[in-house]
Amino acid sequence: MVISGGGIGGLAAALTCARVGWKVDLLEQSPVFGEVGAGIQLGPNVVKILQAMGVGDALRRVAAFPSHLEVRNATTTERLGVLPLGKTAEQRYGAPYVTIARADMHSLLLEAVRAHGGVDVHLDSRVIGITQSEHGARVETVQDQVFEAPLLVGADGLWSTVRKQVVENDAAPRVTGHLAFRAMLPQSALPASLRTQVVTAWLGPDFHAVHYPVHSGEWLNVVCIVHGKVSGDPQSWDHSANAHELRSRMSQARGALRDLIYAVDQWRLWPLTDRAPMASAAEHAKGRIALLGDAAHPMRPYLAQGAGMAIEDAAALATCLAEMPDQIPQALTRYANMRWQRNARVQARAIRNGEIYHLKGLQQVGRDIALKLLGARLMDVPWLYNGP
Ligand SMILES: Cc1cc2nc3c(=O)[nH]c(=O)nc-3n(C[C@H](O)[C@H](O)[C@H](O)COP(=O)(O)OP(=O)(O)OC[C@H]3O[C@@H](n4cnc5c(N)ncnc54)[C@H](O)[C@@H]3O)c2cc1C
Repeated sequence: MVISGGGIGGLAAALTCARVGWKVDLLEQSPVFGEVGAGIQLGPNVVKILQAMGVGDALRRVAAFPSHLEVRNATTTERLGVLPLGKTAEQRYGAPYVTIARADMHSLLLEAVRAHGGVDVHLDSRVIGITQSEHGARVETVQDQVFEAPLLVGADGLWSTVRKQVVENDAAPRVTGHLAFRAMLPQSALPASLRTQVVTAWLGPDFHAVHYPVHSGEWLNVVCIVHGKVSGDPQSWDHSANAHELRSRMSQARGALRDLIYAVDQWRLWPLTDRAPMASAAEHAKGRIALLGDAAHPMRPYLAQGAGMAIEDAAALATCLAEMPDQIPQALTRYANMRWQRNARVQARAIRNGEIYHLKGLQQVGRDIALKLLGARLMDVPWLYNGP
């Protein structure tokens, strides 16, 4: 098979499919692998799959395992609710809750792919042409390489080229009007009062922030989400402009959150884009082409499950292909039917979370009272963390 895209989703699919006997050509457009400095959270539903993929030990070496998640009001600093993670998540869901640097996650998957064998990784290989026949797919890259395979997996992210083969009359991704400012820094560079080993979410009017430990707890990953638009290429903004911009957009933040955004000078800026929740299985696969991860269901990061759903997709794809190795279109239809509703539900819940996090006025007061009364019962997501 050919997989287009060597992000977390593409690597996870290469590993799960190689483990059930597929020979994989993985095509990645970048000349070198290099995940940008940022972190991700992985729920127990995802960690369970990673353990089954044989990367549990590698995860233990580089990730952090926060004991709990706490939610605070960003303007009063009051603690509104606590969700126990650590041992509680392990007992309840069969796997821990993990926070990890994206670069670490990507490297451990790449190492596992290389150690397993059966996957040829082709860098500098941007897919530019795709033709599907009843026997398979023919893929051309910008370097004039041609690959022919019985199936093609599009794991090529938000701006997927493969997606056009599956979804007819597709619209462009949506600009959400939200901006993410991200930073990752050694905890030793912060005053002792700001160092932390828990996941903290701060909820403010029209903004929120989340921070958590990565690199075995030695670094802190910080994400601040504000409303706004940018003109020009946001990656060309310099760090000091970003820091100034963020502080003014989060001027209502108080306490440790305010101290943290003043302690960090290097922020990268992401305008957030998504798509409407998937409406049918037809958006996941067509004939001998399947979509996986952000190529199929890009989402807002407010449930912290975008990479998680890509990893769940990868596991489901391998299961379907192992069950029906000689009936690929049927296997991909089964994959699409297995995945689309759960992915749509996660996309919708992520949108809803963003609305709840940014509430103002009386609605915000109501939210805070509900969190104080119900705490973990509102914050826990059993249908998600129990797995597909
Ligand atoms: C602020 C923020 C916070 C987030 N936090 C979390 C979190 O806590 N937990 C979580 O699970 N998720 C989180 N996510 C979401 C997560 O980052 C994505 O859902 C995930 O990275 C998607 O992985 P992917 O492999 O599908 O796509 P990508 O990571 O986009 O990878 C696609 C790959 O395909 C390559 N490619 C693209 N086009 C081509 C082509 N034509 N030919 C060959 N290669 C190509 C790209 O170079 C890239 O390597 C967050 C996202 C944001 C923005």
